[in-house]
Amino acid sequence: MDSDLLTQATSELVPWQKTALELAFVGIIYIGFAFYNRVVIPAVACCVTKRIPYRAPPLEKLTTKDRVYIMFSKVITALFVYHVYCFVVNTKVSRMTVDFFNVEAVLRALKWFPVHLFLLILLYDFFYTLFHWALHWPPIYPLIHKHHHRQMSPFRGNDDAINDNPIEYVSGEYLHLFSLFLLTRIMPAGQVHAITAVLFIFIGGTLASLNHTRVDFHIPYMFNVNSHDYHHRQPRVNFGQYIMFWDWVFGTYQAEGTLPADKITAARARRAAARQES
Ligand SMILES: [Zn+2]
Ligand SMILES: [Zn+2]
Repeated sequence: MDSDLLTQATSELVPWQKTALELAFVGIIYIGFAFYNRVVIPAVACCVTKRIPYRAPPLEKLTTKDRVYIMFSKVITALFVYHVYCFVVNTKVSRMTVDFFNVEAVLRALKWFPVHLFLLILLYDFFYTLFHWALHWPPIYPLIHKHHHRQMSPFRGNDDAINDNPIEYVSGEYLHLFSLFLLTRIMPAGQVHAITAVLFIFIGGTLASLNHTRVDFHIPYMFNVNSHDYHHRQPRVNFGQYIMFWDWVFGTYQAEGTLPADKITAARARRAAARQES
């Protein structure tokens, strides 16, 4: 069904049916978030048994404000997914292929997927790193981003990931759509497939959720949960979301344990553990 057909179908609904449809869609998004926390993250945690130690006390209890922000983020995600859908199916603008039954197009999409994903992450993180860095600018930090940093040792997965001020969350989400738009301007018309958009959103959600767990998951030179975990305690470094490439370029990358203060803390933790064992 293209966007015209969807618009035509929904325009025939009476107001209560439209509201019911919108609520059902939000419900599906809620289920999607639960799917990450109950299926995707546990599956990764099964394969990666190493855990990141708690190096600072975690935010154990969520306040009403936390819960309202998390709820808002989930509802906004429904709107975001709808807008991605509208963009993708509007092929005159998106220049994407949406035919899932065209085997040739699907195989071409899969062949190009590694290149497209790499570019999407590179594009996304360029803007996200700068945006995140700007959120740490002292005059605005307490107004927006400080809320997310109340959690010093994330462990809830996507609930900790989306526990953001709405301005921050909306900007971060729609940057995915902007990156998709840019990719379709770079690549030849028709080369990017709707599958790429679906997988990009799914992989992005998985990595952002993993960033807020204790699962010590990393892909060499690409992604490392430890980098974002470290950022929660050391907010002057590691502003990237999925990769640390732009931090490396901008000189803001810092590996866990390389600051003198970190080494002292680690040595103290080792001594305390040794004392407990003896
Ligand atoms: Zn975070
Ligand atoms: Zn931050």
